[in-house]
Amino acid sequence: MSKQISAIRGMNDIYGLQSQAFSTVLAGAEQVLQQYGYQQIRLPIVEKTELFARSIGEVTDIVEKEMYTFSDRNGDSLSLRPEGTAGCVRAMIENGLLHNQVQKVYYSGPMFRHERPQKGRYRQFHQFGVEVFGLEGPDIDIELILLSARLWDALGLENLELQINSLGSQQARADYREQLVRYLTQYQDQLDEDSQRRLHTNPLRVLDSKNPAMAEIVAGAPKLIDALDEASRHHFDQVCSALDSLGIEYVVNPNLVRGLDYYNRTVFEWVTTELGAQGTVCAGGRYDGLVEQIGGKSTPAVGFAMGIERLMALLVDQQKIVETPSADIFIVLAGPSTLQPGLVMAEMLREALPNQTVVMNCGGGSFKSQFKKADKSGARYALILGDDEVAKQQVTIKSLREDAEQKTLEWDQLISFFTVDKKHN
Ligand code: ATP
Ligand code: MG
Repeated sequence: MSKQISAIRGMNDIYGLQSQAFSTVLAGAEQVLQQYGYQQIRLPIVEKTELFARSIGEVTDIVEKEMYTFSDRNGDSLSLRPEGTAGCVRAMIENGLLHNQVQKVYYSGPMFRHERPQKGRYRQFHQFGVEVFGLEGPDIDIELILLSARLWDALGLENLELQINSLGSQQARADYREQLVRYLTQYQDQLDEDSQRRLHTNPLRVLDSKNPAMAEIVAGAPKLIDALDEASRHHFDQVCSALDSLGIEYVVNPNLVRGLDYYNRTVFEWVTTELGAQGTVCAGGRYDGLVEQIGGKSTPAVGFAMGIERLMALLVDQQKIVETPSADIFIVLAGPSTLQPGLVMAEMLREALPNQTVVMNCGGGSFKSQFKKADKSGARYALILGDDEVAKQQVTIKSLREDAEQKTLEWDQLISFFTVDKKHN
């Protein structure tokens, strides 16, 4: 045997229960987004490195040390996308989709970051993202929070906490940044290595430190929310009062800053305590300056991204996904003349009963072993075709879940057995 080849660390195969959970999250999210009138957009996985450097920011963790960057055959520097917003903004500008129009879009797919793999943190992971362009008021911030809340409901997820904050205007943020650097510099010796590095490159990120040893210093830091400009304060108040009147619970977390450079005003996260340190399942906010920064006409924008793997883990942990046996009808073939009529029968059933899973025994086997497979498949009914049945154009139906007599039907009665009498479905 040849030596096995393993997958790349932090890049997972998703199968079985996990795969079911993946589809559940994705289908649920698509359904909710369609209900709110959003359009799907499909974006490339690879973009020019410059796009991410310019949008996410040169001094962010992502661009500094997490991107999968390579030069392609012409020597251009390309990167696997670490997130979806930058590519989405590029696509909006490049396709002229922002001229005097509002865009509300969603997308999903794999993202790549060279982080230390651990529970809830992978090198290839999947996001479901939503972005809205052309609206500057708090109404749309509120809509995004509402639709994410609706999704948790639809998925049956419990114990998610909404945290919100405001980062104010670019100017208020720049002023605050100076204040914060002054404050942190007093504790320079006590800062951990990451925080020391961030002190001058990306000081707001120190507030977001995951190191408990930093907690006390962070707690005493001046608060951005106390330094908000008038307009941002008003915007934030409107978001909060709408959430109050809609009965959406939230906490204002003054240390919520987001890892990426481009956010302003409203930021929010949905957080659970059930996944250990990787508790944020959804994160987003407003990024009014980004479109212009990437070369478009100044356009307000707001969005969020959900980590699909983290939501999958929650669904499985909270037992919202149970491994369901997949078949409804299992066809047992007992005899040399049964293969072709069996195939015809299976196709006929699939045509007439599109919501039922019809499995035909493949790979032969004794009557007994086929019955074992039928039972394991979870099917409610076994259809038995023997040479005798084929000769008489009949089929035997046996209930696998109830104690009922088996029945013999003519072939042309079969569909009505499953459709007319609804109790069989
Ligand atoms: P964190 O602080 O956990 O590193 P982040 O601020 O880097 O998160 P975002 O860039 O805002 O995360 O991504 C949005 C969401 O995507 C996160 O809230 C999380 O659910 C998910 N996510 C981010 N990075 C990873 C990863 N490496 N593996 C799995 N999911 C991830
Ligand atoms: Mg991160």
